[in-house]
Amino acid sequence: MSTASPTPVLAAASAWQRELARAITSPGELAAALGLPAASLAGAADASARFALRVPRGFVARMRPGDPRDPLLLQVLPLAQELAPVAGYGADPLQELGQMQPPGLLQKYHGRALLVASGACAINCRYCFRREFPYAEASVTPRTLAPVLQALAADAGIEEVILSGGDPLALSDQRLAALLGAIGRMPQVKRIRIHTRLPVVLPERVDAGLLGALGQASQPLVVVLHANHANELDDSVARAAAALAGAGATLLNQSVLLRGINDEAGTLAALSQRLFELGVLPYYLHLLDPVRGAAHFRVGERRARRILGAVAALLPGYLVPRLARERPGAPAKDILPPTLHNRRQVT
Ligand SMILES: *Cc1c(COP(=O)(O)O)cnc(C)c1O
Ligand code: SF4
Repeated sequence: MSTASPTPVLAAASAWQRELARAITSPGELAAALGLPAASLAGAADASARFALRVPRGFVARMRPGDPRDPLLLQVLPLAQELAPVAGYGADPLQELGQMQPPGLLQKYHGRALLVASGACAINCRYCFRREFPYAEASVTPRTLAPVLQALAADAGIEEVILSGGDPLALSDQRLAALLGAIGRMPQVKRIRIHTRLPVVLPERVDAGLLGALGQASQPLVVVLHANHANELDDSVARAAAALAGAGATLLNQSVLLRGINDEAGTLAALSQRLFELGVLPYYLHLLDPVRGAAHFRVGERRARRILGAVAALLPGYLVPRLARERPGAPAKDILPPTLHNRRQVT
């Protein structure tokens, strides 16, 4: 039983928390940092009023100055296009809200339970399927954690607990350690998985405090990173990945297929190659979920399968991600086969 105040305002912030607090949240400041023309900000104010701009400075430093088409910039820059309504794009595309029982716990697939461990993220990705998600109601808070842990402990069928969000590594070391410790005491849970973008966008997060918290888990740990482009993976991310691997975690990556960002075979192949250099294997390449405001990122299914076919022709099979699509009510994610083209006979 802790008697500490629920808001540890007196605790000294660690380096990653200071970095998080310094994230850029103003479109004007982002444009100034990159030397971008004012024209690239058309609609940014309105779009960021609906879903805030948020990007850590270290991530901005990996963008090419002066390039309004930079693949990292396009993931975070609010655009006027987001405001245009598009048929079929809604607020809760996966119909997840009604499925949480108790709130914060989502069990769609056999043996795996997903816990919305935190509503916070270090970065706001414009294509995020949870951009309109009411985190305040849906994520686990210190107050709602007890029923979630009780439900998990009581369910003998759960072999894997997935901490997702938001970003579970946005939790403090203390809360993460407590959560992992509680799950660690559930004998039926054989694996703990963490879905996180923090080691990529704010690698400072992978510090001694985090590694200590991860040590509270008694089961094998799988960390699924989220990077969409090789330019995201600089040496600071490589060091973070090495530290996670050193702590015994199996490292995978998921990406979203995004028009104008990574919808070319060469770009995806370069991402896989760079991930491998970091000791990370590609896992899923997700088709965009039809969330309101993200329609301009869409790559159609046929084109996606052709792109993936071209990736498969370039790389060993273990570096080709699985092209995945969420379908509400399905027993697993749909995996779409790549469309392969016969190699032209060269003599
Ligand atoms: C994607 C997802 C999982 C994990 O699926 P895997 O195929 O095991 O990676 C689990 N629960 C929910 C709700 C998901 O959306
Ligand atoms: S880090 Fe993940 S959950 Fe957070 S905004 Fe980006 S895609 Fe969404």
